[in-house]
Amino acid sequence: MPELPEVEVTARALAQRFDGHQVEDIRVHDHRLRWPVPPSLPAKVRGQKIGHIGRRGKYLLWHLPAGVVISHLGMSGSWRVHEAGSIPPRQLHDHIEVLCDGAVARFNDPRRFGALLWHAGAGDTVLGHPLLADLGIEPFDTRFGGRWLWEATRGRRVSIKQVLLAGKAVVGVGNIYATESLYHARIHPDTEAGRIGPLRYDRLAAAILQVLGRAIDVGGSTLRDFTSVEGASGRYTEFAQAYNRAGLPCARCGTAIRRAVQGQRATYFCPRCQRR
Ligand SMILES: [Zn+2]
Repeated sequence: MPELPEVEVTARALAQRFDGHQVEDIRVHDHRLRWPVPPSLPAKVRGQKIGHIGRRGKYLLWHLPAGVVISHLGMSGSWRVHEAGSIPPRQLHDHIEVLCDGAVARFNDPRRFGALLWHAGAGDTVLGHPLLADLGIEPFDTRFGGRWLWEATRGRRVSIKQVLLAGKAVVGVGNIYATESLYHARIHPDTEAGRIGPLRYDRLAAAILQVLGRAIDVGGSTLRDFTSVEGASGRYTEFAQAYNRAGLPCARCGTAIRRAVQGQRATYFCPRCQRR
């Protein structure tokens, strides 16, 4: 499932191509997504100039003068951009097309958990939208750090892995990146969040930034369907040191990486480096 790095990679590429350009048309070929695409959306978007395409959590935000298009990749969604002169026929599961500056951006989503919604109101008013209002802090926000995580977890008896996956303390640290961050910070994924001290949280916050930054640099992770706007797969899993490496030696100490199931999600850790 696309996580923060995959959405950030998509947002940056779409922004680079379309910021400042006028939407010529938007065509909804299949409105069936997590929520139906509102029938009135194309008329609101058509002819408007894109101010900026950005991201909040795992939501892509297309800022227009009259409002914001909120888009989510869901489980299997991706945006693909085709330039004039090399636009192939539409593919199965291409739900939406945005025509802009001679190019076309297509949203493909086989499993249909993605979304395309309209928020009336420009600029940051969208941050108060019900889908966005309760999201945790962005990891790249300057206020985020070990101290933030420590304060967010006082008295919490749930595991640190669950805290990260829940997205309330900090957004965007999904299963792969939580697994990797805990490995780099040498914290066992089952550790009660409220029992982790400030120093270990400093290590964890630094690891989260390092892991997410690296993932964005290499185009995110492709587990099943995610591709960049050019159709390329993300390469992060090639760099993973714990995720999906059960039985392989830990890069730090040589002990075999172990797999466990936690909250119905696979987790991976080094039993020697990551003590509870
Ligand atoms: Zn180890």
